[in-house]
Amino acid sequence: MPKDKKKAAKASKKDSPVHVLLVEDEESFIEALTVGLAREGFEVSVARDGAEALEMFEESEPDLILLDLMLPKMSGLDVCRTIRNTSDVPVIMVTAKGEEIDTVVALEVGADDYVTKPYRMRELVARMRAVLRRTPSEEKKKTGIDHENAPTDLGNIRLEPSTRRAYVRGDEVHLRRKEFELLQILMENAGRVLTRDVLIDRVWGSDYVGDTKTLDVHIKRLRSQVEEDPKTPTLITTIRGVGYRFDGN
Ligand code: CA
Repeated sequence: MPKDKKKAAKASKKDSPVHVLLVEDEESFIEALTVGLAREGFEVSVARDGAEALEMFEESEPDLILLDLMLPKMSGLDVCRTIRNTSDVPVIMVTAKGEEIDTVVALEVGADDYVTKPYRMRELVARMRAVLRRTPSEEKKKTGIDHENAPTDLGNIRLEPSTRRAYVRGDEVHLRRKEFELLQILMENAGRVLTRDVLIDRVWGSDYVGDTKTLDVHIKRLRSQVEEDPKTPTLITTIRGVGYRFDGN
């Protein structure tokens, strides 16, 4: 079956359980999570190393991936990076205490969120549901809720919400979903300061429970794409202790 049709068939089955691909190499975690997530109504498949994760991702097109950072054969970071080349599937990275430096990298390679071991089942499930809510369904993507939005042109940047394309000084740049949304909100409110809370609320949802480092990482990535000199930004201005403002005109 062609990929599109398979996805459409999946989206139309409204009541089908959310399929989670659990990528984890520690048996004790696998056991606890399989039982715990099934109890919450998720359908769980398990991959025990990075290579198997990619294989199973291709085959089963999961709705969400829980991805351990330290894995045999291929690290969680590399798995995430590879998946992001072709897919916007929600990814929650699972790190252990002491790997905190890697959490920033995890977000940079495109993870939607991360949790640190040991975590409480309730916290994990809350984050999974939040990430799933923020992800538009295939159906919504197809009907294109954003199609009526007119392109925005400002400060040498052009955003086309209908095609989710972005151009900087005439050249197309590739923005990830969250980066695009963040830039769109900033540009729509050009000249106004948007607080960190407002930005997190609008882009990640009011139920976002992760930490605010996520916003900074996304701003940093955006600047590297849109600013002529990311070190002295002139388009996305930091308002210390408050938030950010778009200054193009
Ligand atoms: Ca591990």
